Amino acid sequence: MLRNESLEELTDGGKYTADSVVKVDPDGCRGCHLCCEVVEDTIILDPYDICALARGLGKSFQELMQREIALGVCDGIILPHLNLVEKENASGRHCVFLGQEGEMQGRCLIHSFRPGFCRLFPMGRLYEEEGFSYVLLKNECPYQDKKECSVRAWLGIEELEQYEAYVLEWHSFIARIREQLPQENEEDRQKISLFLLQSFYLTPYREGFYEDFGERLKKVKGVLFA
Ligand code: SF4
Ligand code: SF4
Repeated sequence: MLRNESLEELTDGGKYTADSVVKVDPDGCRGCHLCCEVVEDTIILDPYDICALARGLGKSFQELMQREIALGVCDGIILPHLNLVEKENASGRHCVFLGQEGEMQGRCLIHSFRPGFCRLFPMGRLYEEEGFSYVLLKNECPYQDKKECSVRAWLGIEELEQYEAYVLEWHSFIARIREQLPQENEEDRQKISLFLLQSFYLTPYREGFYEDFGERLKKVKGVLFA
C-alpha cells in the first residue's frame, strides 16, 4: 500500500539490511495484541503469503476465501488481504487469526506461517532504485523498551536472500502493472486483476515456491508486457 507521510515522519531515519541489529523486539509483546486489532484491511497478501497460508492450513485459495481472507482493491489492483472479524462484547474488529480462547487468547494462531507484513512489523520496507532497505516505523508499536535483534532473526524466514529477491521482483512487477493500468477502462482493469489472481494466487504452487513463481512471472510478463 502506498503511503503519503514522509520518511522522517514514519521512521527512525535509519536504513537497515538483513544483518543490521535494530531495537525492534517488544519482548514477546507481553500480552499486547494491538497491531492485530487495528489492522483495517491493510494486511495485503502476496503470493508467498497465500502459499504459506494454504499449506499451513491445508486449504485452497477458494477455501481461504470463505473466512480467512477477502479481496479488496489496493491502489487500483484487486489483491487478497487478511480478513477481520467483529470483536465479541466490544466494538471494533480484529484479525481472524487472533486467538480468542484458552492459552492462545490474544496470540497469533498462525505464528509460524504468518504473512510477511506481520513478520516485519514494526518494520517496513523502503523501495529504492537498486532494491530495498528495511526501516523501523517509530509510531506503530507503543512498547517502549524494545530489545535489539538482527533483522534476519526478527523475520525468521528461511533462505532470506531468495525471499528478498522474490519480494523485490513482486514489488517491481506490481509497480509496473500499476503504472500501465488502463486508467479510463474499468473493464480492462478488472480483466488484468483477475488474470493476476488466477496466475499468482488461485493455482497452488509446486513444492519449490520460488522456481514456480519465477516461471509464472515470466509467462505473465510475456502476456502483459509483450
Ligand atoms: S503493538 Fe507492538 S507490543 Fe503490541 S502486539 Fe504489536 S508488536 Fe507487540
Ligand atoms: S496473522 Fe497473526 S500476527 Fe498477523 S495480524 Fe493476524 S493475528 Fe496478528
